[in-house]
Amino acid sequence: MAINFIEPLYEVVRNQDRCIKCRVCENQCSNEVHRYDSDLKVMLSDETKCVNCHRCVALCPTKALKIVKSDNCFKENANWTQANMTSIYKQADTAGVLLSSMGNPEPLPVYWDKILINASQVTNPPIDPLREPMETRTFLGAKPKDIVKDKSGNIVNNLPPQLELSTPIMFSAMSYGSISYNAHESLARAATELGILYNTGEGGLHEDFYKYGPNTIVQVASGRFGVNKDFLNTGAAIEIKMGQGAKPGIGGHLPGQKVTADVSKTRMIPEGSDAISPAPHHDIYSIEDLRQLVYSLKEASDYKKPVIVKIAAVHNVAVIASGIARSGADIIAIDGFRGGTGAAPTRIRDNVGIPIELALATVDKRLRDEGIRDNVSLVVGGSIRSSADVVKAIALGADACYIATGALLALGCHLCRSCHLGRCNWGIATQRPDLTKRLNPDVGSQRLVNLIEAWTHEIKEMMGGMGINSIEALRGNRLMLRGVGLTEKELEILGIKHAGE
Ligand code: SF4
Ligand code: SF4
Repeated sequence: MAINFIEPLYEVVRNQDRCIKCRVCENQCSNEVHRYDSDLKVMLSDETKCVNCHRCVALCPTKALKIVKSDNCFKENANWTQANMTSIYKQADTAGVLLSSMGNPEPLPVYWDKILINASQVTNPPIDPLREPMETRTFLGAKPKDIVKDKSGNIVNNLPPQLELSTPIMFSAMSYGSISYNAHESLARAATELGILYNTGEGGLHEDFYKYGPNTIVQVASGRFGVNKDFLNTGAAIEIKMGQGAKPGIGGHLPGQKVTADVSKTRMIPEGSDAISPAPHHDIYSIEDLRQLVYSLKEASDYKKPVIVKIAAVHNVAVIASGIARSGADIIAIDGFRGGTGAAPTRIRDNVGIPIELALATVDKRLRDEGIRDNVSLVVGGSIRSSADVVKAIALGADACYIATGALLALGCHLCRSCHLGRCNWGIATQRPDLTKRLNPDVGSQRLVNLIEAWTHEIKEMMGGMGINSIEALRGNRLMLRGVGLTEKELEILGIKHAGE
């Protein structure tokens, strides 16, 4: 008999006094953990299948359920942890690459939590955002170096195409396929209502969503899934995806069970097949090659749309960004190593890339030192968790932030990190119609609007506290930041002083 070495990580604890055997948990759990035993007349649970998504806990009408971390543990060993041992057992069983989803959960430094924001006292008084105007509008795109006037002295409009955002936040790339139709609709509708943008990811654009084009960034990735002239001309901007924070150096992966008929039509790929985009773009091996693609896309869209180049935060990111800024791109998006994903090899997700805070600081400095900072706008993502992270990112040099995991949390995601299985109980990372319908786009879009409005209000409060009344005045204003518990080297890279200085 084969022995299963892998112990369940979680225990389902059912309070039998409270359980009314309504079977809601059984109906709600797509992982088939709960079942009713008609002989014993009790609900039973198969904990080996539980991913701790909390759907059953949230919907149990009598609050009879608890999911707790299992007390079953292997003999303590700081080197061979339970996670390390379990991985080996899994690979010895399957011979497969370990897959996971969402962002890097390892206890590596989160620099946002070691950076503090300034506030005015006595001199340079704070500004009251309830009573005085605060400008959160943000324009993304290359800015001309000089004002040009014609012979009559009138200013010539030589401004390259810009994206206008009501607040410096956008929804980052999440493809239709990795997330559901209703999740995409929620993002598209919220972006439109808020006056910001959402991003198709590498999966093309469902025909129903073309109407949200002015608030859409269309993505061109190495697989070129769903890319055609209509697609390129529908969006407000075009993003070339060179890399992704959760999996730098490899391509995208959409497991076959999520490639339904509708997804296959949108992506222009066969139904049910794994969609694995190549690690490189097969026409890009240098900045010159990238420049050709940037200008091909500009040509295809009549030079009316900014082109974004998205890269993962990796070693030497400043040099890479410097090349991109010279490639004709209008915006550089940098994705830190904590960025989310619908599916990634666990080892890559947890070990490759660098923190976005360090990448941003070093890229902004390099572009300034080279006098090319205004050639591009900088958008950063990869675990922006709150309005404070947004303020810190802008003060470190970003023009705007991308959020994705935060947006999915607003839609109900509980970060069970099982998106790659395609059975998301919250109707987000799934294509199963019975699960997808659990996310109502009316509710989802309103929750996203609420989140971004709340963050915008908090951004105004923090800016007001600093005596700053516009995002423009905050951008790259590192004097407003101080580090705590950081080494000299870390402070040097971040370009900020230590608290107390
Ligand atoms: S997978 Fe989710 S719904 Fe199923 S038992 Fe675990 S927590 Fe409950
Ligand atoms: S989107 Fe769904 S499957 Fe993915 S982490 Fe969130 S709750 Fe889990």
